[in-house]
Amino acid sequence: MHAHGCLYIVAAPSGAGKTSLVRALIESTPGVEVSVSHTTRAPRPGEVDGVHYHFVDVARFEALIAAGRFLEHARVFDHYYGTTREAVAARLAAGCDVILEIDWQGARQVRAALPGSEGVFILPPSVEALRTRLTGRGQDAPALVERRMRDAVAEMSHHAEFDYLVINDDFATALGELRAILIAHRQRHAAQRVRHAALLEALLSGGGAGG
Ligand code: 5GP
Repeated sequence: MHAHGCLYIVAAPSGAGKTSLVRALIESTPGVEVSVSHTTRAPRPGEVDGVHYHFVDVARFEALIAAGRFLEHARVFDHYYGTTREAVAARLAAGCDVILEIDWQGARQVRAALPGSEGVFILPPSVEALRTRLTGRGQDAPALVERRMRDAVAEMSHHAEFDYLVINDDFATALGELRAILIAHRQRHAAQRVRHAALLEALLSGGGAGG
């Protein structure tokens, strides 16, 4: 008998380094996976269908909504994004921890549907660092950078709806903090008593004869 995995919601404003942190966490920590979302936005250069996202058109996305297939979905910056139930349920049941990289609207829906989920919010270390990360290669129009800043502030205004706050100043430190959240959570009694039921039984019976 194994314990169910834990569902983690990881949210951040763009420019906080969320995607790089989650990727590094997955690569360095066994037993945790990231869920692949559906979106109606176009793939960016280098993005692969089925790996970074399932890229679908609006009609397909709306059909999935109508069919009740989404655990959560939201409109974020003019496009639909959503997490299907099948992207997470089987992996959790198999004992794997699953990360959802989603926005605050999706986080609210997941928290309501699955109260056992844990929310982590990642912040940049300063306004200047955020602005630098949102300025791209310095080629974007100031109005575009300002729009990104406003979007970032709007996302960050929801930080208090999350269980953990991680500040991504030094990458390795932030990665260690993120990993610590997962590792600590795995040792919680409710999960450990299921995982180690046989050990507990043996220990409490004093090892059988002579106990
Ligand atoms: P991007 O288009 O830059 O990959 O993502 C834009 C925003 O959409 C990010 O804040 C990201 O967290 C959010 N997002 C990505 N996938 C999902 C999803 O499945 N559900 C929700 N609610 N938001 C998502």
